[in-house]
Amino acid sequence: MCPTGAIIRTEFDTVVIQSDVCNGCRDCIGACPFGVIDINPASGTAQKCTLCYDRLQVGLEPACAKACPTASIQFGPVADLRKRADARVSQLQNAGETRAQLYGADDKMLGGLNSFFLLVDRPEVYGLPPDPRLPTRNLKSSSWLSVIGAVVVSVAGLISFRTRGSRA
Ligand code: SF4
Ligand code: SF4
Repeated sequence: MCPTGAIIRTEFDTVVIQSDVCNGCRDCIGACPFGVIDINPASGTAQKCTLCYDRLQVGLEPACAKACPTASIQFGPVADLRKRADARVSQLQNAGETRAQLYGADDKMLGGLNSFFLLVDRPEVYGLPPDPRLPTRNLKSSSWLSVIGAVVVSVAGLISFRTRGSRA
């Protein structure tokens, strides 16, 4: 639905907005169920986390995952991350944090997200929609989902990025 084709899916199955192609129409802002796209006031074009596309292209992990001192942001094959996240949820629940839950870790949410999070409260507390919906049927479910990672990096969460080939 981007009229200029500025939004692309990369070879890493991530979604990137090409600012040099964007005309600033804002259609994507209203369409994103997670509200992670905004207009860059300097350029007047749409902007969101790129999942460090430049770093991925040279074999590096996203900078925020690399820099996070508590390893709350993790990057890797989604299946591995799900195992780690499940173990962490069990650990937290056994420790009395009964609200510990994964958000977007299975296919129930829009067919499966490229990123998922470990929350210890309701999604709304983290600014996440409890029941995100796509505005049109023409959008692939995962098109908007890999963008949410950067938005909730401040929560105690797990970010996973689906690696190419890890899912059909
Ligand atoms: S604002 Fe969004 S929908 Fe409009 S051209 Fe830019 S990327 Fe495409
Ligand atoms: S939020 Fe993380 S993945 Fe996204 S652009 Fe910033 S450092 Fe890279």
